[in-house]
Amino acid sequence: MSRIALVTGGSRGIGAAISVALKAAGHTVAANYAGNDEAAEKFTAETGIKTYKWNVADYEASKAGIAQVEADLGPVDIVVANAGITRDAPFHKMTPEQWHQVIDTNLTGVFNTVHPVWPGMRDRKFGRVVVISSINGQKGQFAQVNYAATKAGDLGIVKSLAQEGARAGITANAVCPGYIATEMVMAVPEKVRDSIIAQIPAGRLGEPEEIARCVAFLVSEDAGFINGSTISANGAQFFV
Ligand code: NDP
Repeated sequence: MSRIALVTGGSRGIGAAISVALKAAGHTVAANYAGNDEAAEKFTAETGIKTYKWNVADYEASKAGIAQVEADLGPVDIVVANAGITRDAPFHKMTPEQWHQVIDTNLTGVFNTVHPVWPGMRDRKFGRVVVISSINGQKGQFAQVNYAATKAGDLGIVKSLAQEGARAGITANAVCPGYIATEMVMAVPEKVRDSIIAQIPAGRLGEPEEIARCVAFLVSEDAGFINGSTISANGAQFFV
């Protein structure tokens, strides 16, 4: 069945692959982004997927952006909270600003993305929420106290939303990618990247499409009894 899907951070990296996979599954997709207009325009030109600019860290901007998506395309039945950033530093050097930027975008951003669409999902008795967490939320990571806190928080969010939404036909699940070949990961120095790959039993980085396929399954009609779960897609780097 064709539905309206919103993917935050849906114009680049993993989010772009998710947007494309959901379109291929027959859904009408709105891809949100933060400010990289050039990348967003290129993405729309290549895929035909409409992009919408707002900052997920800002509740009012999220509400207004989602209202615009719904005015253009119709009620959002599928929401993928994917937008995320890193501001890495060892804890003793981490600034309150680095802490708050990551919390505001990665954690509060999930609240800001799901909260405006939740009442409509409850009314229509159908909803699919997927939050893109991370392996580093499952296991922690050096210099990522802020990021790991948000990604662990995502798992608490989906488990709680699952319990609240189940009777209303809403599912909420998380995907925890391992290291995926996006700009975020390709930006780290090659030496560090090689040491990361050496720790992955699969011997390679994951591809964004491998995460997108997990999301496409979780939002499908067939996945209605999967609720509050986490799919780990990490090349056997870490099992929980
Ligand atoms: P990218 O940096 O490649 O893309 C990030 C996307 O998020 C862009 O579309 C960007 O918009 C958007 N974005 C960033 N901040 C905001 C904001 N405040 N409001 C709206 N949109 C925003 O990231 P990845 O594809 O690598 O990561 C996607 C998700 O996957 C993140 O949540 C990340 O934590 C998670 N993840 C990634 C892993 C990896 O290996 N890459 C591993 C595990 C998890 P714009 O283009 O305008 O900047």
